Amino acid sequence: MDKFDCIIIGAGPAGVAAALTLVRKGLTVAVFERGEYPGSKNLFGGVLYSTILNKLIPNFWEDAPVERHITKRRYSLLSQNSEMAVEFDFDDFNHPPFNNSFTVLRSKFDRWFAQKAEDAGAVIFTETVVDDFIYDNGKVSGIKARREGGDVYADVIVCAEGANSLLTEKAGLKEKPLPHQMITASKEVISLPREVIEDRFSLNNDEGMALEFFGGAVKGMIGSGFIYTNKDSLSVGVGCPISVIKENNMKPNDLLELFKSHSVIKKLLRGGKTEELSAKMIPELGYKNLPKLTVDGLLIVGDAGGFVNPSLYREGTNMAMYSGVAAAEIILEARQSGDFSEKGLEGYIKSLKDSFVMKDLERYGDVPEKISEMPQLFKEYPDAVLKFAEGYFTISDLSKDELHRQAWKGFKDKVSIGKFLWDMYKARKAIL
Ligand SMILES: Cc1cc2nc3c(=O)[nH]c(=O)nc-3n(C[C@H](O)[C@H](O)[C@H](O)COP(=O)(O)OP(=O)(O)OC[C@H]3O[C@@H](n4cnc5c(N)ncnc54)[C@H](O)[C@@H]3O)c2cc1C
Repeated sequence: MDKFDCIIIGAGPAGVAAALTLVRKGLTVAVFERGEYPGSKNLFGGVLYSTILNKLIPNFWEDAPVERHITKRRYSLLSQNSEMAVEFDFDDFNHPPFNNSFTVLRSKFDRWFAQKAEDAGAVIFTETVVDDFIYDNGKVSGIKARREGGDVYADVIVCAEGANSLLTEKAGLKEKPLPHQMITASKEVISLPREVIEDRFSLNNDEGMALEFFGGAVKGMIGSGFIYTNKDSLSVGVGCPISVIKENNMKPNDLLELFKSHSVIKKLLRGGKTEELSAKMIPELGYKNLPKLTVDGLLIVGDAGGFVNPSLYREGTNMAMYSGVAAAEIILEARQSGDFSEKGLEGYIKSLKDSFVMKDLERYGDVPEKISEMPQLFKEYPDAVLKFAEGYFTISDLSKDELHRQAWKGFKDKVSIGKFLWDMYKARKAIL
């Protein structure tokens, strides 16, 4: 039991994608997962992006515990008690591969995915925390697992430990992230009868909707909220940089309560029953702060590598799986030459650079930092825009010209038009 071709730390999407790719080529693979079962410690917002999964397991949705495929998206700007929204409904996304976007609950999905790797030959040790790496002449050659006979060795190790990447930091590959580089998110799963969800969100059968909320979602602080529709529940959550939460003396759960108490959100959740409450972090390190991804005998994949697209796409799962598969492919190549040194593994970096992972991180990775320089996007502007709209649509005895003049004056009193247009230009450039 104490020597494998490859050891993988973490049975999330990145680790399992790597394991599945390797065992299918006949390698012996051990996966160490601290949770009681894969997924038991995992949560995310809710949309699994699946281009890579569909290559690993074609038509996976016929077998996997997916909830709904996303056909509708809605982006909302909230002020304290109003909403302005844009909604998209794509009938074409009702056909395979369903635009590669499905809501899932991680406790079910991760377990199913890990089972596929196990069925193919991976050995998964659950309830086992990995505490450190073992080194041999500077090369990572094994791990120290918190269990009897816990020193386990391998030719190469893949670290897929997720956002709270203590091992990656311990190995000196990553600085401890600063509070503005980590989002803390709280999420509830709220049950509602299936037909209520379909009526309320205008969905047919297995169609699903992703709703994102900005501005007053979190009291005008930098951050956002979300609601994703599952079969008979809603995934409801909110996230803010740790720095913002600290500055405002709040706890992550306070944010969720604030979000749920907004008049617009309350209507969408009414009658629902909270089934689960959990919190987790999302890395938003920025493209220029990504960790070192390979050293002798070790590759870093998924959230541990900072691979999350923080733009409107909020794509982490697909990046995690791509990096897991890419790491596995390079390991297979390195086996040919028997060279698991940093040099022997450098093809991994090239594969990431040639793919959507690094291209999207380069394009969007620094969005949070840019946005944090414009806090007015989250409070001052949403309030002013929604007040303007309210004035515009107010019915009174005034002529419409007079009404519009008053609404426009109210807007100009609140924001400088020049600065507003410049900020909009910068925000559009950063996000879209
Ligand atoms: C609130 C929230 C909303 C999100 N929304 C979305 C979304 O809608 N769509 C999307 O694509 N992405 C989303 N993401 C991001 C997405 O969840 C991640 O990008 C993805 O899960 C990363 O996969 P991973 O395998 O790298 O890490 P994880 O999924 O975090 O898996 C890491 C695994 O390693 C285990 N582990 C950690 N340390 C150890 C250790 N020392 N020993 C043993 N086991 C260990 C953990 O228990 C865990 O199972 C969201 C994230 C959060 C927190």
